[in-house]
This record gives sequence, C-alpha cells and structure tokens, in this order.
Amino acid sequence: MASQVREWAGINTFAPATQTKLLELLGKLKQENVNTLTILVMGKGGVGKSSTVNSITGERVVTISPFQSEGPRPVMVSRSRAGFTLNIIDTPGLIEGGYINDLALDIIKRFLLNKTIDVLLYVDRLDAYRVDNLDKLVAKAITDTFGKRIWDKAVIALSHAQFSPPDGLPYDEFFSKRSEALLKVIRSGARLKKDEASAIPVVLVENSGRCNKNENDEKVLPDGTAWIPKLVGTITQVTLNGSESIHVDQKLIEGPNPNQTGKLWIPLIFALQYLLVIKPIRGFIKKDVANESRPSWETHESD
Ligand code: GDP
Ligand code: MG
Repeated sequence: MASQVREWAGINTFAPATQTKLLELLGKLKQENVNTLTILVMGKGGVGKSSTVNSITGERVVTISPFQSEGPRPVMVSRSRAGFTLNIIDTPGLIEGGYINDLALDIIKRFLLNKTIDVLLYVDRLDAYRVDNLDKLVAKAITDTFGKRIWDKAVIALSHAQFSPPDGLPYDEFFSKRSEALLKVIRSGARLKKDEASAIPVVLVENSGRCNKNENDEKVLPDGTAWIPKLVGTITQVTLNGSESIHVDQKLIEGPNPNQTGKLWIPLIFALQYLLVIKPIRGFIKKDVANESRPSWETHESD
C-alpha cells in the first residue's frame, strides 16, 4: 500500500520557512508514533474545502470551482514524506436546495468504510455575517453519521481570511464574533455541551493566490501569522489531543445511529416512571376519593 503513495512533492513549493515548520510538525507526529494522518474535509458547498486541500498539499490535486459544480464523490489525496503519510479526503458540499444532500452523505460514508479519521477539518468562510439553520443541519448530519465524538477531533477552518470587516470593525473582534456564532450553531446542531464546543479550535485560511506574504515569502494572514504552519500545527495538536480517532466500520455505517444508544433506556424509564410515580399517585387518589368526607355545603343542605 505505502509504496503506491506518491511522494509529497508539493511541500517543496512552500517558502523555505514554511517547509521547515511543516517538517518539524511531521517530526513531532512521528515522535508520537503517528505515521499516518487522515484528514476529512467537510462543510457546505463553495466555502473553500477543495482550495484548502490544495493549499495544504501545495499541489493542485482537486478541482475548485466558483460555482456549485462539485463532483458527487469524495476524493482522497495521499502523499508521503520521510516515512509519513498524509491523507486528505475532500468531499462534496452537504447542502443542496436548502436541505442536507442525503445521497452525498451516503456516498461519503461508504467511501470512508474501513478508514480512520484522525481530524475533521470543518470549513466555512470567515466573510459571512450570519449563521443559519443550514449550518445547524450540516453539524447535525456530521454527528448523526459519525457520532458526537468526531467533534473531539475537529478543527474549524475559516477561509477568505484576507478580508476587511465592515463598518470599521476590528479584524480580531470580527473573527471572534464569527467564530463564536459558528461554534454556537455547531454546538446546537451537533448536540454538544458548551465546553465541548468551545474546545474546538478555529483557524484562518487564505487560499487566494493574492494572499499577502511576509519577508520570508510565507503566506500570511492580516495579522502577519504564516497560516499554513498554523493550520497544520493546530491539526497536529488535535491529532495528539488524546481523544480517539474515528474508525468508520460497517457497524458505524449501517448500525443504529451512534448517538442513539442512550435512547434504549427510554422504555425502561417509562416503566419505572409508571411503577414508582404514576401507580402510587393513582392509588393515593383512589384512597383519597374513598375517604373524602362530604363537603360542608352538602351536609348543610341535607340538614
Ligand atoms: P468548495 O466547494 O468548498 O470545495 O469550494 P472551492 O474550494 O471550490 O472554492 C469555491 C470558490 O471560492 C473558488 O472560486 C475559490 O477560488 C474561492 N476560494 C476558496 N477559498 C478561498 C479563499 O480563502 N480566499 C478567496 N479569495 N477565495 C477562495
Ligand atoms: Mg470542492
């Protein structure tokens, strides 16, 4: 298998400073015995998923499009470097005509059979002003498909980071408001606890060829951060964060919804509720009715 994986030549296209940082991160992963890293890229259509895959690999490996004409199938790109294999899985957008595209979701699931997801890269745009129900549906679809634990392995990437916020709003403030709003809607769609959602890191991405560069020729964000090493650094952190990678097996694909195991308790809870609450109350009411003394007006009347 490994011998078929192409050499990661694209890494050489990065500025030397970026290359050095990336190789350092790969070294860190290898040190922790992580020799393969599989990243699943998901999100709505047109948010920059494919562009981000190309940016990370440094190659034009998947097609990008300003229009929603993505192929219906996921694509896995595998590259190896110094005994380390990077797999990135680009997927079609999950929304079509205002609804979750269940067919696309099903194709993605089957494509992932027997693969292990180390990181979920959830892509959206920085330059969006509101979150809506569609964001919630995408988060819900991901939870329903892979289980809630996939969010322990999530990194949120916001594309179009080279952007000027409206109304003179400071960049940092816009970024933190946008992240907060997105995390909130993901939290509700994915049914996460507050601390589970706020633990998800949010990083910025600028895929445009016009991305600013620093004096070392590295692509930088408006605040001067070299974003490719920052993104890969965050991916490395999440990989090593101690929570388990998500293995996609037949059971996960066909079995009951991975989040529904708790629901098996529902009939039992109903039964207990009947035995412990409803039945005693009924008995109590019956007794009470039987013992009830006639109201005073009644007794008065019959006098
Ligand atoms: P996908 O549908 O999520 O895979 O999105 P694509 O990667 O195909 O990108 C959709 C459009 O947005 C394309 O025209 C890209 O060139 C553009 N695009 C993606 N990311 C960025 C970004 O970070 N900055 C800018 N300026 N354009 C981007
Ligand atoms: Mg795409």
